[in-house]
Amino acid sequence: MGILETISKVNITENSWNEAVGEHSVISDQFDGITFYRVLKKVGQLNKGTVVTDSEVIFDFPRIARILQLENGIKLTFTNPFYVEEKVDGYNVRIARVQGRVFAFTRGSYVCPFSTDRLIDFFNIDKFFDENPDLIICGEIAGPENPYNTETPPYVTEDVRFFAFDIRTKGTDRQIPIEKRYRLFEEYDIPTVTRFGKYTASDIKKLKQHIQDLNEKGCEGLVFKPINPSERMVKYVTASSCLKDMKATSPVMIETQAEFFTHRMLRAVFYLLEHNMPLDKTFLREAGESLLKSLYESVKKASDGEMITERVNVRFNKKQNIKKLFEHFHKCKVDANLVSQKRVGQYWHVEFVRRCFPSYEVIRKHWSGHSHFD
Ligand code: ATP
Repeated sequence: MGILETISKVNITENSWNEAVGEHSVISDQFDGITFYRVLKKVGQLNKGTVVTDSEVIFDFPRIARILQLENGIKLTFTNPFYVEEKVDGYNVRIARVQGRVFAFTRGSYVCPFSTDRLIDFFNIDKFFDENPDLIICGEIAGPENPYNTETPPYVTEDVRFFAFDIRTKGTDRQIPIEKRYRLFEEYDIPTVTRFGKYTASDIKKLKQHIQDLNEKGCEGLVFKPINPSERMVKYVTASSCLKDMKATSPVMIETQAEFFTHRMLRAVFYLLEHNMPLDKTFLREAGESLLKSLYESVKKASDGEMITERVNVRFNKKQNIKKLFEHFHKCKVDANLVSQKRVGQYWHVEFVRRCFPSYEVIRKHWSGHSHFD
């Protein structure tokens, strides 16, 4: 099949495709000799994040609406039963077989060399894709040794793990029904997010208990998934995850949109009020530390002329994929330098440093006395 035949199946004409390519709404990319297109701006029904190859379309992973008030949000969203899953704090991948090879695509539609290298550790990808070549497994990769996030679920204390939560079919933007999905995860022994089971809006007491347990453990939250496709999926997060997010982003606050912090403060305050938790000294201290401590350290470093950096460790199966991760960083304009790579047992242990140059530069400018309007 050629690209024109592939896009015609999702109702895109040759003209509109060529126009999109001309305007850079769609760009061509390559990984390991395989060419594919990345959708950067909506084209027809294809949203940002979609991957198009010569023979298939891998739709984007859709955004999930958020509720801030659990009880009212659930009552307003669901009249039918729904499933409840843990929301795992990591990064999203879509795993699919393309031209005989299995790749992990990021939300931004890149092939992630690190995640792709590690797929064989997560489940039997050959068996799954031999028997289901048209399916896409979606899930979260989480753990302290990942190239992207500094946050990790409390129960992943080293390396990374994979947690599946969705299965989609190539060429459509629909998920396969949740109960069938769960059966496939079991049949192929695919690790999943914690599944709390089936509930209705009248089970709010039990749902509050789950979220409170997750909050105490330092987990991110819950995702509520309808059985009836006319209802929507929603997410709800814990107060502790809001503080964790702020703490992780505080070192680069200067290059982060203010909404990142205001949204999390709002979510945390809603959480405290709904779950009858006091805005006590401990919470206020933790919130203050999350917001200010790392920012203070960043400003101190940069004002002393020292670069703001993050040290990251990751493990690889194959040495040649380490180089590919740095090529990927280069493509995504991530400023990262390799510190060391050594074989320890089964894996290549890699350490690199990410430089936060934009934050450094702005702080240096302010510190050296430049005036500005704000
Ligand atoms: P959005 O995806 O809505 O734009 P975002 O990128 O800020 O928001 P989050 O607020 O973290 O992401 O929530 C959505 C993400 O949650 C999904 O992209 C998915 O990777 C992740 N996730 C973790 N656990 C689950 C789960 N059980 N079901 C669905 N998504 C989950």
